[in-house]
Amino acid sequence: KVKNMCKNSISFFTQDMKEEFLKRINIEKQLKKALENNEFKLFYQPQFDMKTGGIRGFEALLRWINPKLGLVSPMTFIPIAEEIGIINEIGEWVLKEACNQYKQWTYDFSFNGIISVNISPIQLKTHNFYNIVSDILKETGIKSGCLELEITENLFIDALDSAKMLLNKLIELGVRISLDDFGTGYSSLSYLKSLPIDTLKIDKSFIKNTTYTGVEREITRSVIDLVRKIGLETIAEGVENDKQLNFLYQSLCDNIQGFLTGKPMPADQVVDIIKAGKVDLSQYIDK
Ligand code: C2E
Ligand code: MG
Ligand code: MG
Ligand code: MG
Repeated sequence: KVKNMCKNSISFFTQDMKEEFLKRINIEKQLKKALENNEFKLFYQPQFDMKTGGIRGFEALLRWINPKLGLVSPMTFIPIAEEIGIINEIGEWVLKEACNQYKQWTYDFSFNGIISVNISPIQLKTHNFYNIVSDILKETGIKSGCLELEITENLFIDALDSAKMLLNKLIELGVRISLDDFGTGYSSLSYLKSLPIDTLKIDKSFIKNTTYTGVEREITRSVIDLVRKIGLETIAEGVENDKQLNFLYQSLCDNIQGFLTGKPMPADQVVDIIKAGKVDLSQYIDK
């Protein structure tokens, strides 16, 4: 009997592993065809200026809807795309799509905020990335200062000097650079000063904690304060409620992005926000 139990549990385990494996193989297979099958779509999430409530810009967020798999999270498929070597093609499509959409907004509504695009470290380590960006700017004719590239700290881990060189070239071109998910990686605040970046996005984990203890609040407040003193623009991500917004307002955070003021949405839904030009933040702020 014992023998049978063992046998069952082993076969259950391997069955599980087998399923995981097949699932992964299937995602890879579908992902390789996703671009040519037009399964990608960009959503846009608004960022607002804390002082005026005006639109600072929009972050483009990639969505993959596959007929067999349904909606797959970028947290799942971006790492796989990186691993199987197709992130460059996908990333280039994202950049083009976002810039074309931006151009349309400029044309239709004279929109002149910022369009932010997430860039994988692998894209930045590819020799022709600079040319891809400058070509897309030329083709779409959008001002380089309106395009912002969101990078993450792990870009700097193994190739600090070459990463800095490339970012400096992009900044010379006029493109903006923002550091995403700040606080989840290794960088110390003093090290930040040496990086060629304009903006720092404070990770949602810092924002989440501000509704809890005094210590967490103090840490987040100090981070915002120091970043401002270094001379970088701040954006808080993952702002979900008015408590958090009030805290960020008092902490003099420059911009906010989160479900409270707008979820990521398809381009046609963004139109109303662009037409309004701003959001009334005073409704959330304690008097
Ligand atoms: P990220 O760049 O840090 O993007 C912010 C994520 O937080 C998005 O998740 C967004 O939907 C979510 N978010 C926004 N507001 C709130 C909020 O108030 N609360 C909470 N809990 N979440 C909020 P999403 O769209 O699932 O993207 C996840 C990650 O996938 C992104 O994190 C980014 O690292 C990556 N990603 C998305 N699109 C692209 C892309 O085009 N290229 C690359 N390389 N990575 C991408
Ligand atoms: Mg981002
Ligand atoms: Mg982020
Ligand atoms: Mg993130």
